[in-house]
Amino acid sequence: MAAIEAMEAGVDAIVLEKTGKLGGTSVCSTGFAGIQSQQQIDAGVADYTVDSAFRELMDFCKWRANGPLVYNILKVSGPNADRLQAYWNQTEDPGVTKAGVTAHDTGKGTRKFDVLYRQFLEPAGINVMLETTAKHLIVEDGTVVGVEAEKQDGTKVTVRAKKTLVCTGGFGGNDEMLRKYIGHDNFYLNGLSSNVGDGVNMCMEIGAILSDEVSPHLAEFCSNKKVDFYAGYMKFMNQAGSLALDPSGERFVNEEFFVTQALSYGASALRRVGFAYLVFTQEQLDAMTEKGLYGVLSEETIDSLKLRARILVPSYYTLQDEMAVALEAGEAWKADTLEDLGVAIGFADQEIYQKNIQDYMTVLETGEDPLFGKRSDMMPPLSEGPFYAVRVISAIDGTYNGIRVNENLQAVNGDYQPISGLYVAGQDSGGFFSYPYYEGVGWTQGYAWNSGSVAAKHMIASIQEG
Ligand SMILES: Cc1cc2nc3c(=O)[nH]c(=O)nc-3n(C[C@H](O)[C@H](O)[C@H](O)COP(=O)(O)OP(=O)(O)OC[C@H]3O[C@@H](n4cnc5c(N)ncnc54)[C@H](O)[C@@H]3O)c2cc1C
Repeated sequence: MAAIEAMEAGVDAIVLEKTGKLGGTSVCSTGFAGIQSQQQIDAGVADYTVDSAFRELMDFCKWRANGPLVYNILKVSGPNADRLQAYWNQTEDPGVTKAGVTAHDTGKGTRKFDVLYRQFLEPAGINVMLETTAKHLIVEDGTVVGVEAEKQDGTKVTVRAKKTLVCTGGFGGNDEMLRKYIGHDNFYLNGLSSNVGDGVNMCMEIGAILSDEVSPHLAEFCSNKKVDFYAGYMKFMNQAGSLALDPSGERFVNEEFFVTQALSYGASALRRVGFAYLVFTQEQLDAMTEKGLYGVLSEETIDSLKLRARILVPSYYTLQDEMAVALEAGEAWKADTLEDLGVAIGFADQEIYQKNIQDYMTVLETGEDPLFGKRSDMMPPLSEGPFYAVRVISAIDGTYNGIRVNENLQAVNGDYQPISGLYVAGQDSGGFFSYPYYEGVGWTQGYAWNSGSVAAKHMIASIQEG
């Protein structure tokens, strides 16, 4: 988006990209958020105004996000969706295939970016240097005047620029930084392992500071480092409302949140306990293998959950094989009785586990969950064995909230004053989000793209003002 702004304004720009491909984490992403785009209006889903979306996001995070920044992002998000689509309309890539209340679905992959670079940006003179890693910012008289970089073959590159925009995607791939800023690295990384915090470190090196609540971008599915549940259907096991227990054998969450408020409440609860055990029966495993989620939940329940199509496939046909791998790896357990299951898992205090199982049996019998309030149509029974438990941890797409920025995406120093010449966008920058993640679709990518746009508009205006 920043390069598009530069191209449209006739300003010279150089894009440095560490890997051999353009698009970054956005190639993994399904869509981006925008408010009141023409596409939403045409689809009859322009329910939000910028003002109402603003209030909803700020209420959700109890005003911990940077209000003026949030507003600036929302304001450009609809027009930017339309602008991008106008470019895509001139290419072979369809761009947005479906507009929802916030989301604009593009589908995953690099093509949506490749066409923009090849057909518009590069012909207009935007210089793209692949396999070129930015290393350090160059500062002269307190102003950032460019960046030192290195090509993969070791060649040094110095770029001098009137303004510099840092957007290297956060530090989900850097375990040391995860431990330092988030407390631990017990996450399954779903995003780019090459996003190792270069931008955040470069900015801090010259006096920029971190924003509040630097956070893991928790993904909706649980996973596990030893068994690649992402390769199959095991990642959907937590969509069925199965009992979840913390490492001591205690129930810790309304399990329905793993589906209904997956990225916020569900993911946060799982992050807090570190890891969890999902408990289910052979019958449920068989039913899901045969019919997917329809094997355990009613159609009415599934309809009310508004799940994505990829979850609602007609069978999870590799589920038994995945379970066999998990059992073999010591990440899943099987027993004929629930009591034996607790022993097999090896809870330090079996009484805690037994008490929680007994309480949950009462929940299942009565269909009422006085403590957590789980809905009764998401309570798969635990009446007959064999029983299984599988251990799950939080997955992350990366991190969000990095360098503290103002509403124009200018990095600020310890006195909260803009650092001359330096802008930060995307998940390297902090203030748009708080923790937990907004419960809506497309905000991280929506923020990444629109923050590039807002930053570049400000950079260009101040260059043009001289
Ligand atoms: C599987 C998955 C699904 C997702 N789905 C969605 C979704 O549907 N909706 C949504 O809103 N969000 C989604 N996200 C999140 C979203 O894709 C990211 O938050 C967003 O793309 C981040 O954008 P960014 O520009 O901050 O970082 P990136 O897109 O990662 O861009 C950073 C770029 O900087 C490069 N780089 C790193 N270090 C350097 C350096 N030193 N020098 C030069 N270049 C460097 C990287 O290689 C990368 O290309 C998903 C993420 C994942 C992993």
